[in-house]
Amino acid sequence: MEIAIIAHDGKKAEMVQFLNEHKSKLIAANATLIATGTTGSQAEKAGFKVNKQLSGPLGGDAQIAARVAEGKCKMVIFFRDPLEKHPHEPDVLMLLRLCDVHNIPLATNVASADILIESLV
Ligand code: PGA
Repeated sequence: MEIAIIAHDGKKAEMVQFLNEHKSKLIAANATLIATGTTGSQAEKAGFKVNKQLSGPLGGDAQIAARVAEGKCKMVIFFRDPLEKHPHEPDVLMLLRLCDVHNIPLATNVASADILIESLV
């Protein structure tokens, strides 16, 4: 199952902590992680295997949105930083919209993401 992980800069540490906390569940669910570039690099440093896309501001969110639209990505965990502005906000909104269009589970904070991951086999 392909799961996308994305974290804005102020949320990257939370993402790594989240991944570590759910490592065994991700392995049990045979999850394949894809990520925007910098989030993916951080996850790799923490020992996870990740299919890295471009960095978010360079189109990584749009690449993941395309995978959602194509039916390849089955879950999106996107720790957004609601206190910062982002130059690629249109791409972010496109990704969120396509999750809704295609009925793909989407979590934008740790509490929701915990529930989604716990729902995996
Ligand atoms: P990044 O992109 O992982 O390359 O920082 C995330 C984002 O800002 O959408």
